[in-house]
Amino acid sequence: MTQHLTSHEAIELEEKYGAHNYHPLPVVLAKGKGAKVWDVEGKEYFDFLSAYSAVNQGHCHPKIAAALIDQAQILTLTSRAFFSNTLGIYEKYITEYFGYDKVLPMNSGAEGDETALKLCRKWAYMKKGVPENEAKIIVCEGNFHGRTITIISMSTDPDSRDGFGPYTPGFITIPYNDIPALESALADPTVAGFLVEPIQGEAGVFVPDDGYLKKAFDLCKAKNVLFIADEVQTGIARTGKLLACEHEGVRPDMLILGKALSGGFYPVSAVLADDEIMLCIKPGEHGSTFGGNPMAARVAVAALEVVKDENLAENAEKMGKIFRSEMGSFKHDMIELVRGKGLLNAIVIRPKNGKTAWDVCLKMAENGVLAKPTHGHIIRFAPPLVITETELMDAIGRIKKSMLAFE
Ligand code: PLP
Repeated sequence: MTQHLTSHEAIELEEKYGAHNYHPLPVVLAKGKGAKVWDVEGKEYFDFLSAYSAVNQGHCHPKIAAALIDQAQILTLTSRAFFSNTLGIYEKYITEYFGYDKVLPMNSGAEGDETALKLCRKWAYMKKGVPENEAKIIVCEGNFHGRTITIISMSTDPDSRDGFGPYTPGFITIPYNDIPALESALADPTVAGFLVEPIQGEAGVFVPDDGYLKKAFDLCKAKNVLFIADEVQTGIARTGKLLACEHEGVRPDMLILGKALSGGFYPVSAVLADDEIMLCIKPGEHGSTFGGNPMAARVAVAALEVVKDENLAENAEKMGKIFRSEMGSFKHDMIELVRGKGLLNAIVIRPKNGKTAWDVCLKMAENGVLAKPTHGHIIRFAPPLVITETELMDAIGRIKKSMLAFE
């Protein structure tokens, strides 16, 4: 049932029949390969969003596609009412890969976060001795953990939050990158966990001070509080290491992964933890019909293999340095700041003559680079980690050319 739509027709259909919960750039994509995508008219672009870091392995990676297609013709879904001959293999692979006793498989990143919150509360009552229904979890201002009611209850972003109350209680919000604030919040003995993004992606790629994660981890340990890292966006080689926490030698008590865990093929998320925490949840207390299904299991193993086989963390580190050095030394009065780690970077845009980050993104699209503003004035630059130096330099040339159009 493939219809050949023009960009205009495709946009009209989405406008008329889809909920208006996104504001996309007016580009209609039809094909992707590696670091590139093509629109319905055949125009080629570098993808500098990578589906919010889900396509770290590059679009349509052949090894992941082969695993998906193969498993789709054998067995797709059993539910967890039965065992499958794929799940255990995946569970062994991912737990050894990241160094945890156990994994709890889910689908979306938000579900991964919800799972971690539930596990943390359960652990607080069963192991830490927090009185029933009193457990609290510390979160940071500017966080983004997804879109469920509980997750938006932890958010400080009015767009995410306003009009969706009443909110779930049990959270303490402190400023990000603020150790004294964490220290005083941890004084409350009912605190069970600290949930943090090692770099705040959606907030605009906020990189905390060196040493922040390590100090935060040590403070949590001193108070018997779980350090929970949401690496849904920063994990799986994006920042130049397999996990962003590794930059500071921190091993979170609970690790939340999603997005690139499937290389963009399928919604696959996971929470990893050791037995002391993971075994607090008993049969019937949590789950998902699709979580850990045979296709997800095969796809995730293939996606993680690609990350190691193709040294994607090393490439992200190397390419990220080139990006920041090129853009950091590019003098333009609309560039306020260039920041990031590995291939998770952002440019903070200073509006000029009424032109904003949105206009810069439109101009970049015209010149063959796709990126999107986050929070109005910040543009995130996060290409697939398979991008080569030649491709990166080509893209940087196009980004500079686009900026120069605003001189
Ligand atoms: N956590 C973080 C850090 C994210 O960046 C995101 C999505 O951008 C999520 C959770 C939610 O993931 P999903 O959209 O798959 O629910």
